[in-house]
Amino acid sequence: MTETLAIGPYADTDAVALTTDFAAKFIANPAALAALSEAERAGIKAVAYKGHLPFGAAEMDMLPALGVIANYGVGYDAIDVKAASARGIKVTNTPDVLNDDVADVAVGLLLMHGRKMIAASDWARLGQWAEKGEFPLNRKISGGRAGILGLGRIGREIADRLAAFKCEIHYFARSEKETPGWTYHADPVSLAEAVDYLVVATVGGEATKGIVSKEVIDALGPRGILVNISRGTTVDEAALITALESGALGGAALDVFLNEPKIDPRFYTLPNVTVQPHQGSGTVETRAEMGALQRRNVAAHLGGKPLETLVN
Ligand code: NAP
Repeated sequence: MTETLAIGPYADTDAVALTTDFAAKFIANPAALAALSEAERAGIKAVAYKGHLPFGAAEMDMLPALGVIANYGVGYDAIDVKAASARGIKVTNTPDVLNDDVADVAVGLLLMHGRKMIAASDWARLGQWAEKGEFPLNRKISGGRAGILGLGRIGREIADRLAAFKCEIHYFARSEKETPGWTYHADPVSLAEAVDYLVVATVGGEATKGIVSKEVIDALGPRGILVNISRGTTVDEAALITALESGALGGAALDVFLNEPKIDPRFYTLPNVTVQPHQGSGTVETRAEMGALQRRNVAAHLGGKPLETLVN
């Protein structure tokens, strides 16, 4: 009987590897645990987890032999780590291998939004270039004041990229970091007041819920651009939409939302919003590395070896 349960929507390559390496059993989501027999659940020692649906105490208690939850992704806010620790279950994630791709999407979003590249593409493709002439002038991004909320692994890659775009770099984290002269702000409102663009790269979960509050959004102001590649939970989305509708905030370029993929439909119609479907780490190359790291953690646990990227 299999010892590994793969939960979530896996790409074919990862599904093949999980089957080859561990003869994994696949289920679509945590709710599908209930459909497994008691004997099947009792044999599971490792969960390979992918997705953003909550995986908590109730799910863990259905798997009495579970020893590791190997998350596919660096952000593990869907997993109740406290509940896992209380049960002696290890949690692993996939840090670092995705930093470049997520940082690329953050900077790409800022450029796409400021330079109106989606509208400009439509202008050319729909014949308006030939009919009406030049595309309307847009917004310079290079050389602006950029704020990074959360100067961790991904935040630092974003800051490095924006520094190369000649931006002045400001950041907020819980403690001041070693930087090449970037300006530290001890709170997110002070950060937002000081910058033209605010890029959110902090962790998700309860501790950072709504850290981009109405006050932060107001401080960013009518010329400000908010970029979010962290999690939908980090932004007060109701306050964000109100500010976008009234013009209190200039614009938003977002890869993450509350209630993905059924996001608030107003994001599709607001003219000052650029939307991506949570695809920060979504390249063939990086997803292959994430899958490989997840499987190395599963193999380490089943083989009684140290886990590579332990969270708890
Ligand atoms: P990381 O290295 O752990 O950095 C996380 C940052 O969050 C740090 O600056 C940390 O601040 C800050 N932070 C943690 N807890 C906090 C709290 N309670 N209050 C305020 N700040 C807090 O993580 P990472 O690898 O850069 O990943 C960051 C996040 O990006 C992930 O957790 C995930 O949600 C998101 N992500 C999104 C995508 C996507 O596809 N859009 C892909 C990958 C990751 P300190 O320095 O003060 O500790």
